[in-house]
Amino acid sequence: MRPQEIIAIKRDGCELSDEQIREFIGGVCDNSWADYQISALVMAIFTRGLNEREGETLVREMLNSGEVLDLSSIEKPKADKHSTGGVGDKTSLVIAPVVAACGIAVPMISGRGLGHTGGTLDKLESIPGYNVKLSKEQFHDTIEKCGFALAGQTAEIAPADKKLYALRDATATVPYIPMIVASIMSKKLAEDLDALVLDVKTGNGAFMQALEDAKQLAEAMVATGKKFGVRTEAVVSDMSEPLGRYVGNSLEVFECIKILRGEAEPQMLQTVELSVELSARILTLSGVADDLDGAKEVVRSKIASGEALEKFRQNCELQGGDVSVFDTPEKLLDPVIPQFEIESRADGFVASVDALAVGEALVELGGGRTFAEDKIDIGVGFRCNWKTGDEVKTGESLGTAFCRSPEQFESVCQKLQNAYSITTEPVFAPALINAVIL
Ligand code: URA
Repeated sequence: MRPQEIIAIKRDGCELSDEQIREFIGGVCDNSWADYQISALVMAIFTRGLNEREGETLVREMLNSGEVLDLSSIEKPKADKHSTGGVGDKTSLVIAPVVAACGIAVPMISGRGLGHTGGTLDKLESIPGYNVKLSKEQFHDTIEKCGFALAGQTAEIAPADKKLYALRDATATVPYIPMIVASIMSKKLAEDLDALVLDVKTGNGAFMQALEDAKQLAEAMVATGKKFGVRTEAVVSDMSEPLGRYVGNSLEVFECIKILRGEAEPQMLQTVELSVELSARILTLSGVADDLDGAKEVVRSKIASGEALEKFRQNCELQGGDVSVFDTPEKLLDPVIPQFEIESRADGFVASVDALAVGEALVELGGGRTFAEDKIDIGVGFRCNWKTGDEVKTGESLGTAFCRSPEQFESVCQKLQNAYSITTEPVFAPALINAVIL
């Protein structure tokens, strides 16, 4: 069928057959569909919708548009975690080594930051020498040797998604759940997993801001994972304030290494709690632990014993990184970057720390991207000295900005100041986990 005939079917609100969806994804991959035809069908899908069968076929065709990893020679359960992204969202760097230390293989294919949300690959590259561009063989070999590998997506995995996502982004058609599910799950299902835990963020720093939308997305992704034979669960977690203490690439790696060294500071405990929750769910889903409470104990013991830190050190060595950062994490804090304080203008309680504002300030400092091809500054960022619910006094430092110059600080100072709201009434910290979808 010609593309315009397939477009017309969905334009008129009718169902696409499996074969028509296959032709569409084939046309995206072999360039036989022009960008304007792809965009037209995507808009028709956005306005007219996809039913369950169409959605499932879309996932399958996008998955089959590329390679699926074959990890069958690794005789361990295989599992991963995926987050929809946020500000200070760094749990992958704790979860991958912890879970690997529990005997699970983790083929973690990650992404780069875009807009106010960060990306694991950028964070890892702040470890000098760390290579995230692994060949399929290197990826496999690294998992075999240390239990996990962290790398970028190769052109062979779900190739339809890259082009489709760029066109959805440029045509205001990203926020449609079946398309988001197909985009995320086609990439995750290519990892040859037994189990997958999804961290769907909600709050103003999240991609799905409203709790109900985040829950719907989580439910749809869990249902899809199960349909494709992967044991899948989702946690809907808070992204109304930055997660943990630090925001910014090298600063976030610093936080994770401190946690793995057993040196978590009080403001980092959110990162610990969420990492433990997600890791424990991976353990139970993989059959390595019987119940969640027992799994959490095992996870905490892998951190306390230093086994998870050693796993990360081993992985870092295999991926070419400088392992001395595990002994001296302060090496990750660029000594030439001056620090500037955001002071409280009132006595009271921190009512909120606006995650979106902090994420946008990071982009303005050069620590995040506006366009996919932008270069980023890994050293800049922000430290939350107080978090929601904490009591503060006038003049105390609410947070510390790591900026290259006083002029740079001037450009984000107001935004960071406004990110904090202070009230006179005591406030409870927001719940970290809003829902669990089994
Ligand atoms: N992240 C993705 O990978 N795809 C989407 O469609 C949205 C968020």
